[in-house]
Amino acid sequence: MSKPTQQAVAASHVFDGTTVHRNAAVVIEGERITALLPRADLARNIEVQDLSDGLWLAPGFIDIQVNGGGDVLFNDDPTPQGIAAIAAAHRKFGTTSLLPTLITDSAEKMQAALNAVQAACATQPSVLGIHLEGPFISPERPGVHAVRHIRAPTSADLAMLAGARAGSMLITLAPEQVPPGCIRQLVASGIRVSLGHSVATYQQTRTAFSEGLTGLTHMFNAMPTLLGRKPGPIAAVLESPGVWFSIIVDGAHVDPAMLRLALRGVARPMLITDAMPPVGGDRRSFSLYGEEISVTDGRCLRKDGTLAGAVLDMASAVRHCMRMADVPLERALTFASVNPAEFMGVGARLGRLAPGFRADLVAFEPENVRIVRTWVAGQS
Ligand SMILES: [Zn+2]
Repeated sequence: MSKPTQQAVAASHVFDGTTVHRNAAVVIEGERITALLPRADLARNIEVQDLSDGLWLAPGFIDIQVNGGGDVLFNDDPTPQGIAAIAAAHRKFGTTSLLPTLITDSAEKMQAALNAVQAACATQPSVLGIHLEGPFISPERPGVHAVRHIRAPTSADLAMLAGARAGSMLITLAPEQVPPGCIRQLVASGIRVSLGHSVATYQQTRTAFSEGLTGLTHMFNAMPTLLGRKPGPIAAVLESPGVWFSIIVDGAHVDPAMLRLALRGVARPMLITDAMPPVGGDRRSFSLYGEEISVTDGRCLRKDGTLAGAVLDMASAVRHCMRMADVPLERALTFASVNPAEFMGVGARLGRLAPGFRADLVAFEPENVRIVRTWVAGQS
């Protein structure tokens, strides 16, 4: 076997997931990073791509909630081709790993989605696994999820999920809607479990943590709000350092003041897009469960005004975080890379620029997070 080709990418600012290195280079062999070193220390014979002055290089973005993109909705096209179209649309905005996300649907659709992701994972390095948002959620907080498909898990569901080989798996559920032991069983199968579309109390949330639940899906949306005598899931999460929460920072789903409040907690934030087909696509409307959803003023709205996912991309989420919540760029970047990688249990191979990690990189202008180039597994 021939030696994998060696290349280097150099930039004036290289953020490795923790620290900014000035005038540094990432050395890549095949699909992996082998070194991060000063530009001046590169071997003379190595092929170097020098990024223009001022550009930053950082770990590629990891988006754990992507319903669609490039005019494709995963629920409508649960195939490897559909997933490829969605991944290509998001890559333009710096996303190098994602979880195609199936919103509440029939058992047959879930099986089709699992099969499609299993096939896609084998050939598309940017497909990390799958996120099943529902159907084991609360009919009291459905958002746009079809109430007719919301249900409690059966033993057949649990067996199907435990047997699935669809990469890294995440399921969003309402702890109060599933039988005791269900979360523990899912976690024992290697599945990440996140609370969402739920009316769980503070105590029910704490009990779910003790069963292995480690996430909260789209903080503040589709869950009980913070109240003085009813702290609910939000307070339980914000005081727990071993828990991650995702948040949609598009200016529509969460007020900047609430975002700043959430960032004062000790739980670890993750940026998600909750993206719908118009992201990276040409059309301004799409169909969900046969109903028309249109994009108005940067929001995806059902006719009754319910938010139906987002028209958000990861680069914009990072930029909004800086502008709306005064988050330093480096910290915002960790919300889009290190944190989701660690949440999904892949923090030893994704989310950082360090030897041994997969060469997933994003080059961008730091002022506005405009993406210039991406690399996935060493390929740009
Ligand atoms: Zn949701």
